[in-house]
Amino acid sequence: MSIKIRFWGVRGSIPAPGPRTMGYGGNTACIELRMGENEKIIILDAGSGIRDLGAHLIKNDLPKGPLSIDLLLTHTHWDHILGFPFFSPIFIPNTKLNVYGPVTYEEDGLDKIIGGLLTYRYFPVKQSELAAEINYIPLKESTFDLGEGVFVTTKYLNHPILCLGYRFEHKGRSVVTAFDTEPFRNLFPTDPSQPGYDPLVAEEGEKVASEENEKILNFMKGADVIIHDAQYTEEELNKSYLGWGHSSFEHVIKTAHRARAKRVVFFHHDPQRTDEQLDELLAGYQKMIRGKTKLEISMAREGEEIVL
Ligand SMILES: [Zn+2]
Ligand SMILES: [Zn+2]
Repeated sequence: MSIKIRFWGVRGSIPAPGPRTMGYGGNTACIELRMGENEKIIILDAGSGIRDLGAHLIKNDLPKGPLSIDLLLTHTHWDHILGFPFFSPIFIPNTKLNVYGPVTYEEDGLDKIIGGLLTYRYFPVKQSELAAEINYIPLKESTFDLGEGVFVTTKYLNHPILCLGYRFEHKGRSVVTAFDTEPFRNLFPTDPSQPGYDPLVAEEGEKVASEENEKILNFMKGADVIIHDAQYTEEELNKSYLGWGHSSFEHVIKTAHRARAKRVVFFHHDPQRTDEQLDELLAGYQKMIRGKTKLEISMAREGEEIVL
């Protein structure tokens, strides 16, 4: 066993429980990664899915000894942190929790943003009352050693707040996460009839956007699995959601194919999307790419496990 991936929350924006989402699940972003000899515990994001993961760790891992956990946050939007106060290991003495994440506001560190959820204003327990030892580690773009032969590279994505993509490498295998993110676009007018059109600025805008997209593609190069934001279809994105910081299935397929990834998992499902719709979309895209690429595509599903 080299790398094990398990989805605990696959939804974007807000939890979406109910009969229409039971198949894929209604919890927001949370992924468990296990790597290394001792099955090192790495968690991506603390959406509502982290609550069940916490209970699972207490049942299965705690009996073997105190929990040591690396929690890597992509960014601090609600859907990626709202489960944190309900992650039971933080109330257990001797738990060691490293919380990594990008910092957008220098004056407000992660301890204030995440720990700040645990104030009487929002929650009945204060941060100072937590039994776990919690370290907050701010991240920028870098590569670092997480221990046990796990190496992590971070990359800024395109979202309305600083947001990090993560690339995990272990024993020649790699997993890349890219959520939440929207393809970079030229924001300057490109049509001479548009007001404010400037040919030099338009050209520069195109160049910068394609360079930034290329950097993200390089970050994903040759990955065994890419877990990518695919909240919208291309049509939905262009019609209503440009600038919200999310990607389309079509963009994800193209990028993952060009990056020569083996498999891409669509993640951060729109809260409105029903199980039926997700099934239909997947079948449609599978048909679209048949015979054109070796890339495997799938929809992230709560409870699903991928072993590399
Ligand atoms: Zn999100
Ligand atoms: Zn977000």
